Amino acid sequence: MLTLLEKIRKKTKVTLIQKIAKKEGVSPDTLTGRIAQGKAVICSNPIHSPAQPCAIGKGLSTKVNVNLGTSPDFVCLKTELEKLKICLRYKADALMDLSIGGNLRHIRRSIIEKSPISVGTVPIYETVVETMRKGKQIKDIKIEDIFKTIEEQSNDGVDFMTLHCGLTREGLSRLKNQGRLMNVVSRGGAFLANWMMKNEKENPLYEHFDDVLKILRKNDVTISLGDGLRPGCIDDATDRAQIQELIILGELAKRANSKGVQAMIEGPGHVPLNEIKMNMELQKKLCNEAPFYVLGPLVTDSALGYDHFAACIGSAVAASYGADFICYLTPAEHLGLPTKEDVKIGLIASRVAAHAGDIAKGIPKALKNDKAIAKARKKRNFKKQISLAIEKERPEMIYASLKSKKEDVCSMCSEFCAIKTMDEVLKK
Ligand code: SF4
Repeated sequence: MLTLLEKIRKKTKVTLIQKIAKKEGVSPDTLTGRIAQGKAVICSNPIHSPAQPCAIGKGLSTKVNVNLGTSPDFVCLKTELEKLKICLRYKADALMDLSIGGNLRHIRRSIIEKSPISVGTVPIYETVVETMRKGKQIKDIKIEDIFKTIEEQSNDGVDFMTLHCGLTREGLSRLKNQGRLMNVVSRGGAFLANWMMKNEKENPLYEHFDDVLKILRKNDVTISLGDGLRPGCIDDATDRAQIQELIILGELAKRANSKGVQAMIEGPGHVPLNEIKMNMELQKKLCNEAPFYVLGPLVTDSALGYDHFAACIGSAVAASYGADFICYLTPAEHLGLPTKEDVKIGLIASRVAAHAGDIAKGIPKALKNDKAIAKARKKRNFKKQISLAIEKERPEMIYASLKSKKEDVCSMCSEFCAIKTMDEVLKK
């Protein structure tokens, strides 16, 4: 079976392309051209075949991912499936099952079965959890164990997988030599770094990258090249370890494409506002414009309880400079496993950031929506404004509870409505 990338390169007609091109407002040729060049991806494993597959990359609207999943402290499939419903209700483009507690395969299969959007995972989590459940340690993991997990997850229908293939021994020694404040904050990165340091061996996902690609190719799984050395605080942003890993990720994305596997690159993390533009430009340059999946970035370390705001600022700026895919953050970030309400708030914040990025990118449907909402606002047509809002429930509730006694205006300025006054003055 050919992968989507291979079909496109062979100029085979793919129905999915027409549908996505129409939704994105680009021509099918533009979309296929970008996929062929590795500048866009469509995350769709044929075993899952999501009804709304996530298309990510150059010229497409900025997409938002939500992380779900259990922890050893809180295992409840029902709650995770309710979070999935929240993802769909508030329009996430993709979700990742990051479960590390309970029956991982059952949870993953249940999520995939109920998800019409693309589903991603980080396979090393399952390998580590299952190894430790057998009373073994991370250092005891064999490359075959990792391959087995990747293959199983691929056969379960996972559409995209985060694999930290660019974390190398050289990168780790660079991190140690330069002296980092937060060391490694990526969960998958820390698992692999632990294995590499205890065994004094190279990252098996880097050493056996071609074998990894062979498994992914089988079910057309998109590889999301994880940034195991992403900065975990503002002080560590854009350091040598981060940039070295980025260079390697760019090389691996090219190798993945050459084997028919679609690839995207993961990025920081924690980055001060003044370094976001540079980070986006470096990624685009070093990775041949491969789709960039940013984890935030958080623009400050001091917004505990409100990290969705810190990430929303960073995501909007990152998207305006070319980030293609935003991983949401919730108010629970750095503190605990998010609740259903946290998922909702984090997702809406990221969707606002993605839309703001799309305005800056000049995405036509985003610009059209903003113009339509401005026209409705000028006419004080509140119902129309709400119908065009990124999220409609909250504005509906606010408008209903604060309704003006006067027609045609809201209770903010009431009869002193600036828009109405100017309309009347200009008509005369
Ligand atoms: S009353 Fe004030 S806030 Fe409300 S629509 Fe008019 S100008 Fe805007």
